Amino acid sequence: PAWLGVMGGGQLGRMFAQAAQAMGYQVAVLEPSQDCPAGQVAQRLVNADYSDAAGLDALAAQCAAVTTEFENVPADSLSRLAQTVFVAPDGHGVSVAQDRVAEKRFFVSCAPKSGVLPAPHKVIAAQEDIDAISDDLLPGILKTVRMGYDGKGQVRVKSRADVQAAFESMGKVTCLLEKMLPLAYEVSVLTARGHDGESVVYPIAENVHRDGILFTTTVPGPNVSEESALKAQKAAQAIVAELGYVGVLCIEFFVLTDGSLVVNEMAPRPHNSGHYTIDACVTSQFEQQVRAMARLPLGDVRQHSAAVMLNILGDVWFEGDRDDAREPAWHEILALPGANLHLYGKDDPRRARKMGHLTFIAPTLEQAQQQLNAACAVLGIAA
Ligand code: ATP
Ligand code: MG
Ligand code: MG
Repeated sequence: PAWLGVMGGGQLGRMFAQAAQAMGYQVAVLEPSQDCPAGQVAQRLVNADYSDAAGLDALAAQCAAVTTEFENVPADSLSRLAQTVFVAPDGHGVSVAQDRVAEKRFFVSCAPKSGVLPAPHKVIAAQEDIDAISDDLLPGILKTVRMGYDGKGQVRVKSRADVQAAFESMGKVTCLLEKMLPLAYEVSVLTARGHDGESVVYPIAENVHRDGILFTTTVPGPNVSEESALKAQKAAQAIVAELGYVGVLCIEFFVLTDGSLVVNEMAPRPHNSGHYTIDACVTSQFEQQVRAMARLPLGDVRQHSAAVMLNILGDVWFEGDRDDAREPAWHEILALPGANLHLYGKDDPRRARKMGHLTFIAPTLEQAQQQLNAACAVLGIAA
């Protein structure tokens, strides 16, 4: 049987491996840590750094195609792999998504075709940049250009003095100052594009964040108008086409209080807000990645059930301030109709750590939301 390779051993790699295995593939994971969610299920774990030549060559020699689940994999590594094996996505798409400056520039360049712009922004790399900040960028958010996720590497700023302090606190690495926008709600658009240039778009997902981390994804989004859904879907397809991208890619958008659409960022891989597709769509985002990289036809993105996805963070192992972990009452959760539990095989729960997710599916959104509320009550989290 054919082998598929994945760079990165986290939960996204694990769910990718599971989808690939269901289709008869064997999976090799390249990941520097020994015990990782994807390594537990893969047929082979290549224990190496993401830029280790021997590790990369071993992956390339074994596999018919290689993908990545880790957004910060060195683009050079993908290029090295691409010399001998089909790689999707390629180093170009991943390198644009890794760098907020390149990403914003790319979104601006796409605007004539996508019809959407990113938030007003300015690169902050030195003192002169802070002095030159115009008033209409404040209040804003200062974000590190690289490596930020789950709201890490971000500081909210009201004045130039705040920017100065935040820039220093982040070690004067290159940052991007973004104007703080009045968000009505947030959506993400999951797309997949095949090597033949055909692309598909999943239904729009509405996302709620808590403490900078995705809390729930609801599909169909209760606030999403048909007009903004169509606009976001069209924009997403224009963006992946411009990027010449192959594989699954997720784009986050803001819908502002005046109804306008702003593009925020993109992830060159399956995305947390797309986990609902495992249980609620004909083709999951992970199977879609397998199809794209194996150069098979893309699958049906049709959603067959309303869905609410709840991220399970390590916090629910700890009641109140206690510091001894206790397994949540899964038997009560799984008694709820339409409940689907996905745990990632991590054996050390920590606060704010993504341990798994739950997806509630139902014939109507109201029913799915009721199950979510019931689950939150069991888990001791505010719905
Ligand atoms: P992720 O975990 O999704 O990769 P991230 O750390 O890369 O997140 P962003 O998605 O850029 O960061 O920002 C995190 C959250 O902060 C957004 O989902 C949104 O709620 C808020 N936010 C970011 N930029 C802005 C903005 N310009 N105006 C208002 N809110 C914003
Ligand atoms: Mg991000
Ligand atoms: Mg984000």
